[in-house]
Amino acid sequence: MRGIVFDIDDTLYCRQDMLVKAAEAVLGVKVSDWSRFIAIFYEKSDINMAALESGEITTRDINGWRYNETFRLLGLPYKPDDGVLAADAYLELQSHMALSEDMKKALDRFASDKDTKLAILTAGESKHQWNKVDMLGLDKWFDRQNVIVTGEAGISKPDVRLCRMLENKLGLEPGELWMIGDNYDKDITGAIDSGWHSVWINRRCLPAPERMPDIEVRTDEELTKVLIEL
Ligand SMILES: [Mg+2]
Repeated sequence: MRGIVFDIDDTLYCRQDMLVKAAEAVLGVKVSDWSRFIAIFYEKSDINMAALESGEITTRDINGWRYNETFRLLGLPYKPDDGVLAADAYLELQSHMALSEDMKKALDRFASDKDTKLAILTAGESKHQWNKVDMLGLDKWFDRQNVIVTGEAGISKPDVRLCRMLENKLGLEPGELWMIGDNYDKDITGAIDSGWHSVWINRRCLPAPERMPDIEVRTDEELTKVLIEL
C-alpha cells in the first residue's frame, strides 16, 4: 500500500501563466520577463501566508498587494488599484482552469489501483482552496476526507504535523507516502523531515538544494511521465 499526496497550485494545474496574463490584461502592457515576474510574485507570496491562513487578510487583498509589489520591483507602470484589479482578473481566469489530459490519465490510473490512496495538502485560505477543488473536479479522484487545507488545520507548511495528520487519515507509514509539490521549502522539506518520498516540480529551475527529493522534474510533461511510471 502507498499514499500519494498532491499540492494543488502549480502541481495539479499550472497557475503561473494565469498570474502573468491577468497582470498584462490590467496594465495593458506585455510582461517581457515572465520568469522574473513569477519569481518576485512567489517570493512575496511566502511573506504573508500565515496571516492569510489565519483569515486576517483575504486572498484578494494579499494577491493585490503581491501584484503591486511585483509591478513596483519590475518598474511596470501601475496605479494603486491595479493590484486588486489584477487579482480579480486572475480569479476570473481561475474559474476556467482545468487539469491537463495527461494529469487526468495519471490520476485515473492511481484511482483505479487498489494499492494506492490519494490525498491533497494545500496551503491557503479555506474557501479559496476548496473552490479550486470544486472547479478542478478533484472529487472524481480524491475523497474530501483526505484533503487538508492549511487554513483550516491552523498549521502552516512545512510543519511535519501536517504529514502526521495525513499518515493517520490514510493509515500509512511515512515510508509508504509520496509528496508531489512545486515549492521546495513548503512541500519538499516537510516531506523529507517526515521520512516521506517526494517529487519536486522545479518549475523555476532553482539550483539543487542540499537535501534532494527522490525525483526532480521541471515541466508538466516530465511530471505526468514520472507519475505514470511511479
Ligand atoms: Mg504549489
